[in-house]
This record gives sequence, structure tokens and C-alpha cells, in this order.
Amino acid sequence: MMIKLLHHPLTTNKSSYRKMRYPSFSLLREHNILFIRGFMILFLSCITIQLNFCISSTPSSLKALPLEGHFSFEEADLKHAASDFGNRYQSHPMAVLHPKSVSDIANTIKHIWNLGPSSQLSVAARGHGHSLQGQAQAHGGVVINMESLSVPEMQVHTGESSLYVDVSGGELWINILHETLRYGFTPRSWTDYLHLTVGGTLSNAGVSGQAFRHGPQISNVQKLEIVTGTGEVVNCSEEQNGELFHSVLGGLGQFGIITRARIFLEPAPAMVKWIRVLYADFTAFIRDQEKLIFAEKAFDYVEGFVIINRTGLLNNWSSSFNPQDPVQASEFKSDGRTLFCLELAKYYNLEETLLVNQEVEKHLSRLNYIPSTLFLTEVTYVDFLDRVHTSEVKLRSKGLWDVPHPWLNLFIPKTKIHHFAEVVFGNIVKETSNGPVLIYPVNKSKWDNRTSVVIPEEDIFYLVAFLASAVPSSNGPDGLEHILSRNKKF
Ligand SMILES: Cc1cc2nc3c(=O)[nH]c(=O)nc-3n(C[C@H](O)[C@H](O)[C@H](O)COP(=O)(O)OP(=O)(O)OC[C@H]3O[C@@H](n4cnc5c(N)ncnc54)[C@H](O)[C@@H]3O)c2cc1C
Repeated sequence: MMIKLLHHPLTTNKSSYRKMRYPSFSLLREHNILFIRGFMILFLSCITIQLNFCISSTPSSLKALPLEGHFSFEEADLKHAASDFGNRYQSHPMAVLHPKSVSDIANTIKHIWNLGPSSQLSVAARGHGHSLQGQAQAHGGVVINMESLSVPEMQVHTGESSLYVDVSGGELWINILHETLRYGFTPRSWTDYLHLTVGGTLSNAGVSGQAFRHGPQISNVQKLEIVTGTGEVVNCSEEQNGELFHSVLGGLGQFGIITRARIFLEPAPAMVKWIRVLYADFTAFIRDQEKLIFAEKAFDYVEGFVIINRTGLLNNWSSSFNPQDPVQASEFKSDGRTLFCLELAKYYNLEETLLVNQEVEKHLSRLNYIPSTLFLTEVTYVDFLDRVHTSEVKLRSKGLWDVPHPWLNLFIPKTKIHHFAEVVFGNIVKETSNGPVLIYPVNKSKWDNRTSVVIPEEDIFYLVAFLASAVPSSNGPDGLEHILSRNKKF
């Protein structure tokens, strides 16, 4: 009522309002303003009280949920959920859910949805926490620790027309590799590092040296089970709930939580010929890379990296890679030049060794690398795929794994890659890169532009990844601030 009383003079148009300036009216107005102020204060404090009540009652309402798993409110657990591989952002959640079943996740999300926006609770799925900028964190909210979800048990299907494995969204890729190999099969598309979860990489893209042939990991999924933002459990694929399926892939957990995935498989090789060759000329390097991603049966993996200002370069490789021609290789001097390393892999089984050697030789003879810089090694398929873990173990032992990682990953269209390389490797990164710099092309035709991943328009684009580690207390070129400002220049 009082609001209406006040409302009337204020909505009167300005000229008539000016005309009505007699004392009794302005007195009424002052009273009304005082009243409305009081009312607003009361109203706002009611909201705050209600909100506080909501927030303070949330932990007990979560605790009351019937779950097979449990909620943790323990400081150590919250601290862990507030950290990630990037080591730059820390947002503490209010609780961590350790689900044992898909319905634990569905019930929790349904409950939070029903609390409404006033609960201010956000939810984030956390895979292995290898994000760089807090993507798997939920400030004051609930983090769902997907690695606790061990259902469904992994199931490998090797029917004549269908080769796939069904896995939990919280499963680590390294475990999938070991399990599928027991049946003689393997997923087709990987990331360089396998201690990441299925849900985590499918929420990004999952790109590595196999992507030129099979596309990223998000192009190698047949079906997903998703818990949506309202707590519904929905199955989706290209044919069924296609919009949800494509949105979740590369969707950083914003369209639902992946609780189960069906991943395509192929027969697994036993061994890998792993090859590195060097280029001083960037044009020759990318011409060969592009040639190889269109060559049908040449190599199974094509990547590349940049070598900046290193002199003892070949000594670093000598333990694991053998020069094709040791005499020539010993004469090669890198002398701090910027070099480009083409990295290739050919999969094979032992009985095919002779034939594979001939094929590899044939394809290498068509490339224009510096002749004395051909290095080879032969490793098992598992050792090849799990190669970054070997580096992880070494870095951990030196205390160099849990440092800030100001990584920068870019997709650069083919028409811009020359200019990019000229400016970046010619001017910006000349002394040190503070970590590996990857550069390799992929075919857009192997990507599905209905997913949430944003890719360049061109048929070929390059993944360029600056994988820097920062020295925590340094203000110099190896310090966080310096690397971040260099990233901005890129
Ligand atoms: C050493 C290293 C090497 C890497 N190499 C590569 C590489 O070669 N190629 C590549 O593409 N990437 C690579 N990455 C990046 C990696 O793919 C992403 O950081 C990935 O998100 C990490 O997976 P995770 O399980 O740790 O996910 P998290 O960091 O836990 O989560 C990542 C995102 O996915 C969401 N999420 C997690 N699980 C689910 C789920 N089940 N459902 C819905 N959303 C979910 C999270 O909320 C978050 O937004 C690398 C990372 C590291 C640390």
C-alpha cells in the first residue's frame, strides 16, 4: 500500500510535479522516503538473513542426502580441491563430494538445483586436477571428485563391427591403456600425458600426434552418459540428444558432468619406432610436417617442437635416441641456433620389423631435414605413450613438478603460422623458452565443428603450446611475471 502511495507522485510527469509544490505534499514525500528507506533496509537484511541461513544450513542439508559415497568438509580435502597443475589459482570449495555412484552425483546436483540461486552454490567436476587456471575449482561451492566414481567397471567390447571400451568419466587414460591392451586393443587418439581423466580431456579436446589421422579425443567418442545441471541422467550420442552430446565435448564441464563414455578402439601394436630429425629452416620443417599428415600410411604420430639456444642438445638425447650415423651426428653443432625438431612414430609388431624398416626409410628419404640429425629409438607401445610420466618422475624427484605452470596453448591457422613463427621465434623467444614448445599441424576435417571447441576456419591449423615452468621466487626471465608478460606478447 505505502509503496503505491509513494509510487504515484514519483511517476507523475516532471512538469505537473513541479506545479504541486505545497508544504503538505513535500512533508508526505519526506515521510514516504523515510519509510521506503526503512522498508528497504528491513527487506535487504531479511534477504541477507535468509541467505546466511541458506548458506549455513547447506552443509547439513548436503550431509543429510542419502549417498553411497560421502561429502568431505575436511581442510586437507578442500585444500586439495582448491589446487591444480597450473599452481596459480586457489579457490576453496565448501565441500568435496566423493561419489560412489552416478546417482550420488545426480542427487547432489538435483538438491543444489532445488535450493535455487539464493544458495549461491556452484558445482565443478574435478578429474585429475591438471587444469591450468582453476577450471575444476568451485569457490565456496561443491567440487565433485570424479576419480572416486569407479562405475561402470571398464568393459572392453571386441565384436566384429564394434570395437569400444565403456569407462567411467573419472577413469585415468593410463588405466584404460593397460586394460584395453589385455585384449589386444587400444584407444586411437591420445594426449601426450596419460595421467588425466576421460572427463577432463573430453571437456577440453585431447590433442596429440595421432590427431592428424583420428582427430582429437572428442572425435573418438561414440556415446556419453551425462548428469545435467538439473540432476537428470541423460544418455547422448550423435543420434540421441545430439545437441547435449556435442556441447559437452570441449565444454569444460559447463553443460553437464560426464559420468560414462564409450571410446573407440583399434588393434594395438607392440612396438614403436620413435624418430627425431632436425631442421634449421622453418619452411622446410612445416612443409614436411604437412606432407606427412596427408600421407596415408607413412607414420602413426606426427608432432614437432622448437629448440631454442641449446648447445649440448644431442648429448641430451644420446641416452635414449641413437644417431643413424654416429660419425656425422658427432660433427653436427647446434651452436645455440633455433632448430625445429620433427618427431615421428611408426607402430609395428615384431614380425613386421623388416617391412616397417623399409617403409620408414622410404618415407624419411622424402623429407628435407639436416642429414646428420636423424635419431631413432625403439620402445614398447606403452613406454612411448606414457613417455611424459617418465619426465614427471624425474621432475618430481627434483621438486620441479609442483611449480607454477603459466602454459599457453594456441591454435594458429596455416596462413598465419609463418608470420607467427617469424615474430615469436625470431624476436620474442630467443634466450630460453622455460619449457617445451610444441608445434604441429592437424587436419580440420577430423574435427567436428558442432562441439564446444573453437577452432580456426582453415583446413589445416597448428597446435602451438608453450609449456613453461616458473621458478617460484624468481623475478628474472624464469619467474612467473616475466613468463606471463611474454605470453601476452604471443
Ligand atoms: C603434463 C600435462 C600434459 C598435457 N598434455 C596434453 C596433450 O597432449 N593434449 C591435450 O589436449 N591436453 C593436454 N593436457 C591438458 C589436459 O588435457 C587438460 O588439462 C585436462 O583437462 C586435464 O584433465 P584432468 O582430468 O586433470 O581434468 P581437470 O583439470 O580435473 O578438469 C578439467 C576441466 O574439465 C571439467 N571436468 C573434469 N571432469 C569432468 C567430467 N567428468 N565431466 C564434465 N566435466 C569435467 C572440469 O570441471 C574442468 O573444467 C596436458 C596437461 C598436463 C598437466
